[in-house]
Amino acid sequence: MSETFDAVIVGAGPAGISAACLLAEKGASTIVLERGEYPGSKNMYGGVLYGHDLARVIPDFAERNCPIERNIVESRIWFVSQDGGYSVSYRDRAFESSARYNAMTVGRAKFDRWFADQAKGKGALLVCSTVVTDLLRDPAGRIVGVRTDRPEGDLRARVVLLADGVNSPLARKTGFRPEPRPEHVALAVKEVIALPEEVVNERFGVESGDGVTVEILGDITQGMNGIAFLYTNKSSVSLGIGANLADFARHRARPYEMIEALKTHPMVAPCIKGGKSREYMAHWLAEGGYQTIPQLCGDGYLIAGDSAEEESAILWRREMIRGGYVPAMLTVATPQGVVSALVFGPNEAHADYVGALSLEDTAAIIAKAAGVMGTNRDYLEQVARQLDTLDIQDDYVEQLIQLVRGIGNT
Ligand SMILES: Cc1cc2nc3c(=O)[nH]c(=O)nc-3n(C[C@H](O)[C@H](O)[C@H](O)COP(=O)(O)OP(=O)(O)OC[C@H]3O[C@@H](n4cnc5c(N)ncnc54)[C@H](O)[C@@H]3O)c2cc1C
Repeated sequence: MSETFDAVIVGAGPAGISAACLLAEKGASTIVLERGEYPGSKNMYGGVLYGHDLARVIPDFAERNCPIERNIVESRIWFVSQDGGYSVSYRDRAFESSARYNAMTVGRAKFDRWFADQAKGKGALLVCSTVVTDLLRDPAGRIVGVRTDRPEGDLRARVVLLADGVNSPLARKTGFRPEPRPEHVALAVKEVIALPEEVVNERFGVESGDGVTVEILGDITQGMNGIAFLYTNKSSVSLGIGANLADFARHRARPYEMIEALKTHPMVAPCIKGGKSREYMAHWLAEGGYQTIPQLCGDGYLIAGDSAEEESAILWRREMIRGGYVPAMLTVATPQGVVSALVFGPNEAHADYVGALSLEDTAAIIAKAAGVMGTNRDYLEQVARQLDTLDIQDDYVEQLIQLVRGIGNT
């Protein structure tokens, strides 16, 4: 594309799409680039969207078939100990009025798509399955566009809006985004538990279409700085728990164990009884506050939106699925300089931990091991290929692969 857009927006989350709506409405030529297959396909949050904020962008959202799960009519706060707790709640008739949405639950997969359709309706272009890999600069250093992973995928713009998450590598490329520190990041896990609509209505004391939010504070986060939540959707509930990442490392706590404990808490268990787990996900949240907000604009670019370390969330899901590792944020040296990195060390307390093994013993296990997703041998071959692609020399992997190949397929 040789055209120069008024604005190129990276990321079709709420921040990117809000900007696209407002810009397109003003007649600015706007293109949104989203790496997911569709907006929302990669996104996760707790579940509550605030109507007054959405109305600033789409005033008549309720009439435009916004995919609302439930209109929130009651907000509860539970203060819990290990074995019980008490509840403070607030309900108001005003919240029942369909004309005045206070807050509502929505699912990101449906909502982000709907929201992006509103932006398209106003004239913005949306291109999905496209990763922005770099920022283009002119000789004076001004940002003049983006590079994407598509062939001939450079796009030029008068302004680039980075709405791909505050911790995004792209924002860091502007030179004004510091590496996030563990105490400035929280990690949350969430499970969506399916229940029939009438069961949700009965357990939370609401009519169809109305919902409740519950924020849970106290012993449930095991002394860590964090919070849990329980939100009602149409025919499911979203249950989640999160805490500061530095606390996770200090307490050697494991999020999947925390959510399991949450599910059996005497105040939570009756609400989800008989439900079926439908989704399980993890995500980062920015918790650094005002002091950690970066410089939000510079020559040719703006930064908007929230923290969203998508890659880390994927990595987390993969590495922490069975609890074999202990996560920690460490400072590591790389050829590109010192960075803070999420590191997964062995969890020596885990039943699968076998301690130090010789290369030969390790190779013997890898040569035979297989699981539902394939063989361990294939996994090792893929690791070696990927290291090769990235031009990384790893002697340990190299020696291991030679030994495994030597054992042959038996
Ligand atoms: C567990 C949890 C619970 C939460 N609960 C709530 C809640 O109940 N209510 C609430 O209002 N907020 C909640 N939040 C916060 C909320 O999710 C964020 O504030 C919001 O998602 C930020 O929007 P965003 O558009 O900045 O970023 P995101 O929603 O993360 O969107 C960024 C988009 O950019 C895309 N992208 C990233 N990199 C690239 C690239 N290089 N090229 C192209 N596209 C790219 C991503 O795929 C994504 O679509 C919660 C967050 C978490 C983690």
